[in-house]
Amino acid sequence: MKIAKFGGTSLANAEQIKKVCDIVLADPERKVVVVSAPGKRYKEDTKVTDLLIACAMKFMQDGEAEEQLEAVIQRYREIAQDLELGAEIVTVIAEDLYQRMTSNYSNTDQYLDLMKAAGEDNSAKIVAEYLKSLGVEAEYVHPKDAGFIVSSEFGNAQILPEAYQNLQKLRERQGIVIFPGFFGYSTEGTIATFSRGGSDITGAILAAALAADLYENFTDVDSVFSANPQVIDNPAEIKELTYREMRELAYAGFSVFHEEALIPAFKAKIPVCVKNTNNPTAPGTMIVSERESGYIPVVGIASNDRFCSIYVSKFLMNREIGFGRKLLQILEEEGLSYEHTPSGIDNISVILRDDQMDAVTEKIVVERIQKELEVDDVMVVHNLALIMIVGEGMRRAIGVASRATKALAAANVNIDMINQGSSEVSMMFGVRANEEEKALKAIYREFFMLSEVAH
Ligand code: ASP
Repeated sequence: MKIAKFGGTSLANAEQIKKVCDIVLADPERKVVVVSAPGKRYKEDTKVTDLLIACAMKFMQDGEAEEQLEAVIQRYREIAQDLELGAEIVTVIAEDLYQRMTSNYSNTDQYLDLMKAAGEDNSAKIVAEYLKSLGVEAEYVHPKDAGFIVSSEFGNAQILPEAYQNLQKLRERQGIVIFPGFFGYSTEGTIATFSRGGSDITGAILAAALAADLYENFTDVDSVFSANPQVIDNPAEIKELTYREMRELAYAGFSVFHEEALIPAFKAKIPVCVKNTNNPTAPGTMIVSERESGYIPVVGIASNDRFCSIYVSKFLMNREIGFGRKLLQILEEEGLSYEHTPSGIDNISVILRDDQMDAVTEKIVVERIQKELEVDDVMVVHNLALIMIVGEGMRRAIGVASRATKALAAANVNIDMINQGSSEVSMMFGVRANEEEKALKAIYREFFMLSEVAH
């Protein structure tokens, strides 16, 4: 049995929905289908989820949002008409949207989630209706009826353990189950969504709960690429990845598959296959526990330029018991989450996500470190990019770091920081954000273009 999840571009219009249904019907093992909200039809288009957010914001501000609501209804109306579904389903959707919009919005986050969830919920209704119109036994299943229980952390819900048991009952359903992604219900009965892009998480949870043989994640690219195609021309396709490799790549910017969706798949050891709705016969990328294919040390290179670093130096830091703890405690007390802590003898850097470090926070943190830790120097460096080289094969390969640093030196890129995690699945280089692209190109060239020839 397979769980097939389809992303927003796969549901963007009637033509795409027909492709989705063809894919589903081509394999009788595709028993549970998870859908996103209609996404972008073309580059400048707006996703239905974003239309819904705009509608909710306008309603909260002005007590009316007719135009914004109509924009959402129109997306569904067009799809329903092009699928020749008749007017009834559009009425059902329009009423559902109106009811949500005019609900109590005293809790802004809760109200926003109620609105956001409408995107996938109505998408699922349409897909089920279309399959039925083709004479297929298909059923839209409401997450509440299936016991898809989540915490009430609005916009960042977490699945509750008891949901897994509830969801097992889906196996007993006849026909194809069409399940909306992205949201669940709290035990108090309110809707709560996962973080953005969270339909991937729904699919992974269902795959784990139902012990599926495979979780297929259909998107709009043929595979996971070894580097960002917006920076590297025609990057190599990755045929097979381990969960850990995918996790590391996702961390530094690969957005093909939601980071959190890896957890349920990994725990239940369900293989994931990333495939293209627009080219379903392409093999896609398999994400598995163990990678067998080949022994290349590096499978992918990712980068993210949204980091900053707090550099702290103090003579004899290495002898001062508790220094690290006190430093991290200051960050904890200021509500900052840190990422890495590369250190030297008399110095330590703490790397954080830059968006946490506004001017006010920076001032407080720097002052506290100066005063409470009596350091010689403390300095915050913004616009730091992390380049990550990822691959399980690195553990066995000698010279990966040397090749990477040589490539960066040849490209005249200064390395601010080097960090190799203890797992040896990845190696990280901190460079200035304005050198990120140059660094990425140099490293890609070294590991993917020259490797066969020179090594
Ligand atoms: N529609 C939601 C979003 O845009 C969730 C998803 O597509 O996975 O974030």
